[in-house]
Amino acid sequence: MNITLPAVATTAPELLGFATCPLCRTTHTTMTNDAVGKGADWQCARCGQKWSATRLATVTAYAAWVSAQTTQHRGDS
Ligand SMILES: [Zn+2]
Repeated sequence: MNITLPAVATTAPELLGFATCPLCRTTHTTMTNDAVGKGADWQCARCGQKWSATRLATVTAYAAWVSAQTTQHRGDS
């Protein structure tokens, strides 16, 4: 008897509410974004970085800045 597993791989982990390490993209199913938003922090099991809502906000802001710079340079050429 064949059992077809649901295609969980096609769903972005962030949408499931689990915290994801911005550095190595490891999803931590023991930590939810909801908990992080309430002040929890966690250490990435893969790369060892410690993350909290504050650090995640910093990385997100930096990534947005890099993206903006890259877009600007593309427009120049
Ligand atoms: Zn990591």
